[in-house]
Amino acid sequence: MKFTVVTILPELVEPAFAAGVVGRAREAGSITVTSINPRDFTTDKHRSVDDTPYGGGPGMVMRPGPLLAAIDAATGEGGAHRILLSPGGKPLVQARVKELAKLPHLVLVCGRYEGIDQRAIDRAIDEEISIGDYVLSGGELGALVIIDAVARYVPGVLGDAASADDESFSAGLLEYPQYTRPQELDGVAVPPILQSGNHAAIAAWRRTEAMQRTAARRPDLWAKFAPTKADRALLGKAGVRPLHARTHLALVHHPIVDRNGAVITSAVTNFDIHDLARSAQTYGLARYHVVTPIASQRDKSEYVARLYAESNAPNADSRAHALALVRTAASIEDVLAEILAEYGEPPLVVATSAKPGAFPAAERRTPLELAVEAGSGSAPMLILLGTGWGLAESLIPSVSRVLTPIDGPTSWNHLSVRSAGAIVLDRLFGRST
Ligand code: SAM
Repeated sequence: MKFTVVTILPELVEPAFAAGVVGRAREAGSITVTSINPRDFTTDKHRSVDDTPYGGGPGMVMRPGPLLAAIDAATGEGGAHRILLSPGGKPLVQARVKELAKLPHLVLVCGRYEGIDQRAIDRAIDEEISIGDYVLSGGELGALVIIDAVARYVPGVLGDAASADDESFSAGLLEYPQYTRPQELDGVAVPPILQSGNHAAIAAWRRTEAMQRTAARRPDLWAKFAPTKADRALLGKAGVRPLHARTHLALVHHPIVDRNGAVITSAVTNFDIHDLARSAQTYGLARYHVVTPIASQRDKSEYVARLYAESNAPNADSRAHALALVRTAASIEDVLAEILAEYGEPPLVVATSAKPGAFPAAERRTPLELAVEAGSGSAPMLILLGTGWGLAESLIPSVSRVLTPIDGPTSWNHLSVRSAGAIVLDRLFGRST
């Protein structure tokens, strides 16, 4: 495989071609790596490659002429895939790295200054790639990142052909922890299973660790990962309770406020009981608590839940299954006590609100931040949904986190609690495939 780097700073990239895996692969002839300098294609005495931007503004822009000539020289007779390193490009991911490794020749074009004349991009670039959401002073480090990541997939470059496929991201998971000698370091031993010689048990342990690590550190990746039946069995065996399975949802009818801010108790509605139970079941929650201090309203809620439970055969798809998640409680404190008794530790109590400044004493979290924080522990979580005009903040001291309000592209913000609950659950636990 061939890599050609188009850069005005070849001295920055060339030393890296000689070292490590890339250097060895180059020596062995598995890859060739060269650079081409646009300055060599200038005609003026200063060999200038930049000029001032049309329309004004800070900095300089790379002139299209020398750059296009260099790209053309790098491309040769065709067949090359021309990549511009650019913060505005598509973020590089492992799946793309693997595809790029199938191509015979990559030309990696490095920008400098404020960027490149757009016409050069339109004429001579096939793809723009970013290596992350930050701005570097040039594309050279990005080109080296691509060469390093892609070369590992070129046959013969890595000693063990399996190792690129076994790593973080390849299977949609982060990699399991690795250990080497000594067997004990400052009193900390290598996990015994890795010394057991039982290859199936080691593979199962590694898979479980990889899944747990990904769920805890990268809920964005975890949301795209589809565990197999065997994966789910491994998680269950390890006693891992994923966040959704230790999350409780409470629909609060008191203490809430009315449109004037007065503390009131709202009436329960059939739809709220029924629809949120179905959402809770869809996202795999532990339970759905309907909270009201009025005994007859709790009776009504239980009656509604039972009605569906009795009128449907309780197979996995039936609504009875979802309605079986419903519990009633006289207060939020009663729900907290119930969860404490079950798990042996209090839940992380999370408020929801349409108001940006709600619950000022609680820490604000986006759904992703909350999923990372709560997902990495083992404590239960309780999400509070307010009816009426929202939760009566000062009367719920147990709240320690507040989710950022659901926000759409308009300023109209009056979701029903059923819709808001479903959106919150999807943002926390939904798969984005
Ligand atoms: N004005 C440009 C902007 O705001 O998008 C930034 C130009 S940057 C100072 C100069 C060059 O560095 C870019 O043309 C690009 O080749 C490279 N570069 C900077 N950040 C990068 C990133 N995150 N990924 C890939 N290339 C990057």
